[in-house]
Amino acid sequence: MNYENSLDFARKLDQEDPLRAYRTRFYIPEHNGKPIIYFCGNSLGLQPKAAKAVLEHDLSVWQQMGVEGWFAVNPLHDEAWIGYHRACKEPLAKVVGAMPAEVCPMNSLTVNLHLLLSTFYQPTAGKPKILTIAGDFPSDQYALETHIKSRGFDPDEVLIEIRPEADGLIRLEAIQDGIAAHAGTLALVLMSGLNYYTGQVYDMKAIAQTAREHGITVGFDLAHAIGNVPVYLHDWGVDFATWCSYKYLNSGPGGISGIFVHEKHHAAGLPRLAGWWGYDEPRRFEMTKGFVPMPGADGWQVSTPNIPAMSLHKTALDITAEAGMEKLRQKSGQLTGYLYYLLREAGIHVLTPDDPAQRGAQLSLLVPDGGKALFNRLVEAGIIGDWREPDCIRLAPAPLYNTFEEVWRVADVISRF
Ligand SMILES: *Cc1c(COP(=O)(O)O)cnc(C)c1O
Repeated sequence: MNYENSLDFARKLDQEDPLRAYRTRFYIPEHNGKPIIYFCGNSLGLQPKAAKAVLEHDLSVWQQMGVEGWFAVNPLHDEAWIGYHRACKEPLAKVVGAMPAEVCPMNSLTVNLHLLLSTFYQPTAGKPKILTIAGDFPSDQYALETHIKSRGFDPDEVLIEIRPEADGLIRLEAIQDGIAAHAGTLALVLMSGLNYYTGQVYDMKAIAQTAREHGITVGFDLAHAIGNVPVYLHDWGVDFATWCSYKYLNSGPGGISGIFVHEKHHAAGLPRLAGWWGYDEPRRFEMTKGFVPMPGADGWQVSTPNIPAMSLHKTALDITAEAGMEKLRQKSGQLTGYLYYLLREAGIHVLTPDDPAQRGAQLSLLVPDGGKALFNRLVEAGIIGDWREPDCIRLAPAPLYNTFEEVWRVADVISRF
């Protein structure tokens, strides 16, 4: 697309935007009585207006029915509390490119990472290694480190970290070469699908294929990818994945996470950390000895789900699934492409790749001189992004509720700084 640096041009793009009506389905926070420009959906997505009604419904069911509420069908979800997770499976499957049986909403992200590592990290003396990306999100690093130690290995010896090049980015070939070089001793490849700091999207399809060719298990943390870029976990042959729902999926602070376990593993009776909620549902309340898992991803559930959070998740998820990941990606590419173009014109150094295929909604601006002052200037102007010490401003226009006009206004404040 040929962009122009003018407010009229930005407004024209908004008029032509087929997804523009979705903005009205979210509350936009205000500052001095005016809507702020919220470019922080990569950290906490905004509240869907439908959220309050579903929570009020759940509260009134609890108030009026107590424990019977578990079986009272909520017309807003076509399921009772006992089945809210089932109501999430169809839209979740759409968003991550999976079959409904391969996904299940549950727990929170780092907890799920631990659960999945207990299944999919099966080190042996000859094959103990895990390949990951250096500087990945700290929680993921801690999870890997502690799993390695708990199995009696030394993280310094078995963790292979692929390092960024001078431009701060990771080359696909470096990951593929790393897999090939360590293939004989690798138990697992585990990494983010989209880097939280640089905004770089990794070629998950190619990485999964390389891992498969070498017979190595591969899993992704999709925290910054889900609802942001289309993924096709089933077709790519990814073994497992997890994510959170409070970033681009707008399911609320601390919202329900979810897991993907590929169909090819469903019959195998894989080892896992079990709990009663993963027990074969028709017989769960027989409360007998000896764990019998539910088929598919549901069999990794452990505990009674957090029902208000699950209810919010379903409501928010439906919006993303209805808009569709391909359409969201198309708008997102233009929105972030426009921001990228305007920032380049303003002489700002952007760490995120210039190749649109290698980025999602987020751009990471590197501002070594006066970065914090610029960030404060944005806040004064009613613009919310986020600041990472020592010199990085992350801005993420979200295609569900941000506009081209907002992109122009943000770049205008930056260019006049
Ligand atoms: C946001 C994020 C997390 C957060 O984990 P929680 O368990 O939800 O606190 C973990 N990993 C990555 C890559 C993230 O971006």
